[in-house]
Amino acid sequence: MPRECLVCGRRLGAKEEHLCLYCAVDLPMTYFWERAHNPMADQFNALLEQMRQAETEEGDVGRVDEAEWGTDNDTGARERMEYARACALMFYHHENPFKHIPKALKYDGNIKAGRYYATMLGRKMAESGNWGDVDLVIPVPLHWFRRYRRGYNQAEVIAKAVARELGARFRSDILCRKHRTKSQTKLDAAARLRNVQGVFGVKKRCAATHVLIIDDTFTTGATLCACYFAVRQAFGPNVRISVATLAVVQA
Ligand SMILES: [Zn+2]
Repeated sequence: MPRECLVCGRRLGAKEEHLCLYCAVDLPMTYFWERAHNPMADQFNALLEQMRQAETEEGDVGRVDEAEWGTDNDTGARERMEYARACALMFYHHENPFKHIPKALKYDGNIKAGRYYATMLGRKMAESGNWGDVDLVIPVPLHWFRRYRRGYNQAEVIAKAVARELGARFRSDILCRKHRTKSQTKLDAAARLRNVQGVFGVKKRCAATHVLIIDDTFTTGATLCACYFAVRQAFGPNVRISVATLAVVQA
């Protein structure tokens, strides 16, 4: 098969991988891994706060069982105050041909390209020195039937590569997706939140200090938000939780 640039379709030379040299230098990188506060993290934390408020009003969403974890009020307060970190390798815009990179992994089975850019993300995170305490990397789970049909979970491909670069453990058996959800592509932010609420369950628990949850693309953050609360339930209030994706949608 002739090798072509994922972005512009140009025939690749022997030394070019996935992208031609012209597209490679134009990769729309976010540099969010260098900044604890960035637009993606702000958006994610606003969503977490919105969910926590809904929880106090309604009762159950994302509640950490304090009796079970034996926490005092102090650590509970820390959980509520923590600003979660978030980063992505590149920007995603539907009119920008660079969207073909995450799409190649998600829809075209191009696992090699996914692994290549996930490794790039992991390396940038490691080099920044901001993610050195991450000791566990967890992919957003697919429903088992969807994983069976696709043959792989794109978030798992990314999470494995990032874990390797950060020198952290990779575990895909901590969370599960309890039921299948509608495709989110046509839903707005509020509908996405409703679509994923309570979808993730905890299968196993293990010790960790800083858990990094990985997905392929950050759109509204709804899926990662639902995962965040499941991970919080699995690990308790003292564990730091961050998120990272290959791409972040630019509004
Ligand atoms: Zn190109």
